[in-house]
Amino acid sequence: IERTLVMIKPDGVERNLIGKVISIFEEKGLKVIALKKVRLSKDQAKAFYIVHKERPFYEDLTNYMSSGPIVALVLEGENAIKRVREIMGATDPKEAAEGTIRKLFAIDKEKNTVHGSDSPESAAKEIPFFFSEYELI
Ligand code: ATP
Ligand code: MG
Repeated sequence: IERTLVMIKPDGVERNLIGKVISIFEEKGLKVIALKKVRLSKDQAKAFYIVHKERPFYEDLTNYMSSGPIVALVLEGENAIKRVREIMGATDPKEAAEGTIRKLFAIDKEKNTVHGSDSPESAAKEIPFFFSEYELI
């Protein structure tokens, strides 16, 4: 049993997709362990995506991720990290497989509706970024 951090990004919250995105994960058997709606400051977005600080898209990405509210959630299940990444689809919706969240809903490779931790090491950093131990139930 594994846990992973998911975010519904500003484009998803803005377009009233919170329920649809969570439904897709729940239908695949993933359990919601924690959930909150927050708005990240620019500095918080930069801290969350610090691994990308040298990338050309870092400035735009962190502006975007602090542009409106997001929903953060922790999902739990067998191989949750890999399964969530499969259910989300490729970063660029043009390359995402049929039926994935990004194929269904993403606008472009920046406004791509969802984030999911990419490894156990990332999940271990990203879950405490949003949630304290007592919130994980
Ligand atoms: P995430 O980390 O959000 O789950 P990912 O792991 O599929 O997405 P990363 O390579 O980690 O993709 O990039 C993080 C985020 O940065 C992407 O989800 C997207 O919002 C943005 N991004 C990535 N590549 C580009 C790009 N070439 N142009 C604009 N934005 C990008
Ligand atoms: Mg990533």
